[in-house]
Amino acid sequence: MIYNELGKTGIKVSKLCFGGLTVGPLQKNKTPSEGGKIIRYAFDQGVNFIDTAQLYHTYEHIKSAMLGLRREDIVISSKSYAYDEKTALSSVYEALEKLGTEYIDIFMLHEQESEHTIRGHFEALETFLKLKEKGIIRAVGLSTHAVAGVEAAIKYSNEIEVIHPILNVSGLGITDGTRDDMLEAISNYNGGIYSMKPLGGGHLLNRVEESFDFILKQKVDAVAVGMQNFDEVDYNIKRFTEEMISDDLKNRLRTQVRKLHIADWCTGCFKCVERCGQKALLKGEGRPIILQDKCVKCGYCGSVCPEFCIKVV
Ligand code: SF4
Ligand code: SF4
Repeated sequence: MIYNELGKTGIKVSKLCFGGLTVGPLQKNKTPSEGGKIIRYAFDQGVNFIDTAQLYHTYEHIKSAMLGLRREDIVISSKSYAYDEKTALSSVYEALEKLGTEYIDIFMLHEQESEHTIRGHFEALETFLKLKEKGIIRAVGLSTHAVAGVEAAIKYSNEIEVIHPILNVSGLGITDGTRDDMLEAISNYNGGIYSMKPLGGGHLLNRVEESFDFILKQKVDAVAVGMQNFDEVDYNIKRFTEEMISDDLKNRLRTQVRKLHIADWCTGCFKCVERCGQKALLKGEGRPIILQDKCVKCGYCGSVCPEFCIKVV
């Protein structure tokens, strides 16, 4: 495994970061014990970095994965939608308690769109920084689906040491620009960078090789990849360490049963329904209804969703 320092934080992370959303209740809904085993399988093979969030409800999964390991050997990054002191403190203390740890390596403002949203969350940011002074957080950051979010982090570089931007070969999920706009913004940021969604939330599964070739060439310290089973862990580790991948493993992953999943934060705009040429999405009560048997997992609906809440899992 390749390890990089996350910007200037002094935190050393594996280039492959375990994307913690997938095993949790918002996607594959593994129990903490089941999900913990998959995470631990990755830890045991050299992955030392895991990304999660208050929203994902996977702290117990990670706690289970860390049983018997030295805390300092694992890097945990989490995030919340906290906007003031109270919500910031409660989100960090919830993480400490549920993870069974005395500190969080990285804590971030979740989904920042621009400098306006940072201003709106500034009290929370200041609270995270105070917790950093006390040793409860090691580094503070933000996650973003927007080019303007990265540009805002550059403006607030005294406060924001780590960014977690969306980046993939097609620019899927970038809310305000193209892949190349995002690359340019990232190139101007001097802190730690770990990107997310190299497979566009599952919509690039038919372009896996190209997607990994692209992301592994980028100047990012780490890449968070959602993993839902042991085969995916094996495949991703081999891909990141440039080991041979057997045809058998490739075939098992290719034929894995996939489902379209719409996350809870869907706003019911129905742009996805209009985009789907297969008539696999219907307008339901405030959110789409998925007809899984008609869905060909083409990913077109995901490309028009302004909330990036459609995934193939
Ligand atoms: S993945 Fe393709 S077929 Fe399935 S719902 Fe989306 S647009 Fe329709
Ligand atoms: S496009 Fe996204 S937010 Fe809009 S209805 Fe579809 S899933 Fe929900």
